[in-house]
Amino acid sequence: GQVTTAQHTEATDASPELREEYAGLVEEVARHQVAYHQKDAPLISDAEYDQLIHRLRKIEAEHPELASADSPTQQVGGTPSEAFSPVEHLRRMYSLEDLFSSSELRTWYDRAVASLEKQRPGEKPRWLVELKIDGLAISLLYRHGELVRAATRGDGTTGEDVTHNVRTIKDIPHHLVGDHHPEELEVRGEIFMPSEAFNTFNQTLIDSGKPPLANPRNAAAGSIRQKDPAKTAQRPLSMFVHGIGARSGLEPTSQHQTYETLEAWGLPVSPYTAIVESFEEIQQYLDTYEQKRHDLIHEIDGVVIKVDDFAQQRSLGHTSRVPRWAAAYKYAPEEVTTRLLDIREHV
Ligand code: NAD
Repeated sequence: GQVTTAQHTEATDASPELREEYAGLVEEVARHQVAYHQKDAPLISDAEYDQLIHRLRKIEAEHPELASADSPTQQVGGTPSEAFSPVEHLRRMYSLEDLFSSSELRTWYDRAVASLEKQRPGEKPRWLVELKIDGLAISLLYRHGELVRAATRGDGTTGEDVTHNVRTIKDIPHHLVGDHHPEELEVRGEIFMPSEAFNTFNQTLIDSGKPPLANPRNAAAGSIRQKDPAKTAQRPLSMFVHGIGARSGLEPTSQHQTYETLEAWGLPVSPYTAIVESFEEIQQYLDTYEQKRHDLIHEIDGVVIKVDDFAQQRSLGHTSRVPRWAAAYKYAPEEVTTRLLDIREHV
């Protein structure tokens, strides 16, 4: 999320053409953010959207004077919709830095390791590797083990109150198992429509003459953001936990230990998570799941790599938009891969 780059000390006067391109891009990206985050109806593919963001970042890196604090590159998601009551998250929700190649991953990894070495000499991080679930981020607030509120991420600070809808999802416990629960706990996770259920659900829509849903991500987001919980209840939704926010009365030392605790309390935890020690093992995990990506419970668009230890996470900290202790490696969009394969076949 840092806009300024130290390398570019030369004059950065942007040409009028570039200023115009920049302003046009900001407007275009803002339009797509509304379509995607507020209306659950994207107008372009994620890969196309990522290209627009990528171009914006490039212009901002070369011409920091163009970037303003409200640039889409500095924000988490979209503005919460007025159709729902606003919810202030107790702790902020973040996005993730995107990495699009093995070399970008290597740079990110080396930087995190070096930064830790500087702050906590001698400590080698352990890495938690997880699938990047293509769904909708949710924050569940439990007070003394009771689910009292559920909110979407929104802009990271303020989300949308979707408690009634979330209560219809059977994977999400209304009361945590056992007793002695934290006074206050924000459980963060991803709501998704399992791939199989998505296909079946879409078939019923087609059979009854209705337009099918575009993809499981929009299906999940659209299902949670219904005005009528009875509609949400008819949608086959699931959730996996991927973090915690505020926690009072809980002092876990690592992310994987937190998952174990949450699982014991009856919260759904992903079966695909692994702990690894090296860059090579991370790469191996990426390769394995790129092959298996269509044989999983849910759709994925990549892998999330996290420093496991909470003290190390705190040392690395956050930018205004993303944690420095985690990143998302995005798989290449498959349309492109198919096209490339097609071309190869014709050569
Ligand atoms: P993101 O989806 O790239 O990454 C952050 C999110 O990943 C987190 O908030 C969390 O909800 C989710 N996530 C899934 N699995 C996780 C795990 N195991 N651990 C932690 N987090 C996990 O970033 P974003 O800011 O939510 O949105 C950007 C995404 O939305 C991009 O993929 C972009 O292409 C897409 N988008 C598309 C359009 C469009 O028009 N097509 C418009 C806006 C955004």
